Amino acid sequence: MAMTNETLWSATLSAHERAELNSSSGTIDCRSPDVLVVGGGIVGLSIAYFLAEQRAQVQLIESGSIAAGASGANAGGVWPNDQGPAHAAGFQEFAFQSRDLWGRLSLRPEFDFDWRVNGILNVNAARIGPLADTARKLQSQGYAVQAVDGEQIASLEPHLRAGLAAGLHLPSEAHLHPVKAALSLARAARRHGAAIATGVAALKLLCREQRIVGVSTTAGPIEPHRVVSATGWSAAWLGSAEVWLPPLRPVGGQLISTDPQPPLLRGSVADEFLVLQLRSGEIVTGGGVFESDQLAPEPALSAEFAAAARKLIPALHDVPFTRVWRGLRPGTPDDLPIIDRAGSLENLWLACGHFKNGVLLAPATGKSMAEWLTSGTRPDCLAPFGAGRFR
Ligand SMILES: Cc1cc2nc3c(=O)[nH]c(=O)nc-3n(C[C@H](O)[C@H](O)[C@H](O)COP(=O)(O)OP(=O)(O)OC[C@H]3O[C@@H](n4cnc5c(N)ncnc54)[C@H](O)[C@@H]3O)c2cc1C
Repeated sequence: MAMTNETLWSATLSAHERAELNSSSGTIDCRSPDVLVVGGGIVGLSIAYFLAEQRAQVQLIESGSIAAGASGANAGGVWPNDQGPAHAAGFQEFAFQSRDLWGRLSLRPEFDFDWRVNGILNVNAARIGPLADTARKLQSQGYAVQAVDGEQIASLEPHLRAGLAAGLHLPSEAHLHPVKAALSLARAARRHGAAIATGVAALKLLCREQRIVGVSTTAGPIEPHRVVSATGWSAAWLGSAEVWLPPLRPVGGQLISTDPQPPLLRGSVADEFLVLQLRSGEIVTGGGVFESDQLAPEPALSAEFAAAARKLIPALHDVPFTRVWRGLRPGTPDDLPIIDRAGSLENLWLACGHFKNGVLLAPATGKSMAEWLTSGTRPDCLAPFGAGRFR
């Protein structure tokens, strides 16, 4: 069966949500904002939302539509316990704070993004190592994780193949619909007075005496007091000025999904690849880490993902995967984001390079950037993400 390249996230939006993706195309409402945010991915939108909540006057511009980049192509995982151990302690705290913020946002009226705390079950015993030791070590570091045996695996996820003898369960990991989350942030930012323009690209900085005095865009000039560049895997648009450019690169990933299926999974399951099921029934799997800016999916990879999912969940044996899509993660040399002043220009900030964790870290990034820009003091939690580590 041929696979379509429309993402599952886009296909599962309501007509109203679809219209919201481009609802203010080409229109700049605020030509001299306190803060101009460049980039309408989940990171830029979160910054705009928290700034607007603090009563800052914000204009956001996005060259495509809302969540046109990686934010519209990811797996929707909010997995601090799974991702944390690969990074230093500062990441863990920031990630837990961010997960809690998502949880709190999910309770607010404008936010509607299929939030679920349904855990991850890791059954890839070969990759985990001695389970009880791993679980104890992670617990001592503050992670919520339990070693589970075959019986517990069968009781947690009855549709997995027989014979899985041991695994790790991370019960507090969460999941969301990434495009609905981005739209929720945009909606709430607007309600607090932010102006958001899609279809408008930032082209060039105009600088005088180490300050930005203007930004030229495809919809004419803007004269912001401060600028935050949240443009994902490339900050090339800043290259027109004498500005230090962050070491970003695109790191591809590919996902596939089925049409709605009867309930087969309660939470996300990590085996060879991660597999999850939405409440609406679609199974999603894939991942991969490709040093490439190619957005065209590789059929051989889709076949590999599908075979692994069918091996893990026998009931998928005859179920076709009908969608495939790719996205470009914003990579940095140490896999951590850059959330800092850009350097030589006193009113330019960067919020980019969130790699595998932009969804997870978006609320903490937005909240702490808003705190910095409104108070003038950098919050301590941003110390691990300074640009100085690459300059
Ligand atoms: C396959 C895959 C799976 C993933 N799974 C997860 C996951 O489960 N959990 C998780 O936390 N993260 C995940 N990620 C990573 C996550 O998607 C990214 O870290 C996150 O989306 C980055 O958000 P962003 O806003 O920084 O970048 P983007 O979403 O790329 O947004 C940047 C935006 O800037 C715009 N832009 C660029 N230049 C300009 C300009 N000059 N003017 C105006 N606009 C401009 C772009 O059009 C784009 O919309 C995954 C990524 C992929 C690819």
